[in-house]
Amino acid sequence: MLTKIEELLQEVDQLTAQNAEELEALRIKYLSKKGIINALMADFRNVPAEQKKQVGMKLNELKTRTQERIAALKETFENQDADMSGIDLTRTAYPIGLGTRHPLNIVRNQIIDIFSRLGFTIADGPEVEDDLHVFTKMNFAPDHPARDMQDTFFVETNPDDVTKNIILRTHTSSVQARTMEVTQPPIRVICPGRVYRNEAISYRAHCFFHQVEGLYVDKNVSFTDLKQVLLQFAQEMFGPETKIRLRPSYFPFTEPSAEMDISCHICGGEGCPFCKYTGWVEILGCGMVDPAVLDACGIDSKVYSGYAFGMGVERIANLKYKVKDLRMFSENDTRFLEEFEAAN
Ligand SMILES: [Zn+2]
Repeated sequence: MLTKIEELLQEVDQLTAQNAEELEALRIKYLSKKGIINALMADFRNVPAEQKKQVGMKLNELKTRTQERIAALKETFENQDADMSGIDLTRTAYPIGLGTRHPLNIVRNQIIDIFSRLGFTIADGPEVEDDLHVFTKMNFAPDHPARDMQDTFFVETNPDDVTKNIILRTHTSSVQARTMEVTQPPIRVICPGRVYRNEAISYRAHCFFHQVEGLYVDKNVSFTDLKQVLLQFAQEMFGPETKIRLRPSYFPFTEPSAEMDISCHICGGEGCPFCKYTGWVEILGCGMVDPAVLDACGIDSKVYSGYAFGMGVERIANLKYKVKDLRMFSENDTRFLEEFEAAN
């Protein structure tokens, strides 16, 4: 029996296990109730009395060494697990880059901020719209070219009733229509959002862009009110020296209509290549809301009047940042986007 124990002592020192299952198998083999060591303990009573002391000591040594060996193996597994979790508290942290706001968002937020201080609230509406809100209520003639598939993206056409055609909105005026449908004056809203037009993509045109439109409807709203609000906007956006001028124009939904220019903020009106030596750059369209639009949207045009304006966010951003290619706004090139301040 003593020889057997000596063999086992050597065997136990060589024990290895590749994983926790193997280790558990070893524990069962040596240390469980039906294990080798318990079997030896059971045989102990057959050991002659004169050998009992020596065999007993060796047997205890075997038990202790087996327990220690298995505990040691277990510890190596646990350490391996810890290593695999990849935690190294001394390692330098990964650099976390702060993002920047998109230039169009910076400009849109500035526009919203200015008009918010003038008492305008934000109105929102769907980008996939019906003809009724995009064109019909905005006083577009049935054969107006904007209704043509050349200019507008159609989602669904309805041959029986064009007003039920589903399209991608070509302007956020549809939000004005929806606001007037459910609100009685005074109405003072701005409608920021993305709009879609069937344009060939180039450095100066894209199939989508962003607008902020504004609408004010109340009693006795005049063209003077419109001009003053737009002057205030231009001076806050481009500097207190900025001048504006209004040129007669035509839109189906406003009468009279105007295009607004601001004095070129690069040359101060002297004339430079940017303003093509005119001293002026165009920034938006505006006018008095056509009475037909008010009536179509459920507002009594004999009692109320209003003005509306609309500008392209890309256009304003181009004036502020002199981005030469419109496509850069939507290409997600981080070298371009990182040019703009994060906290603005
Ligand atoms: Zn200029």
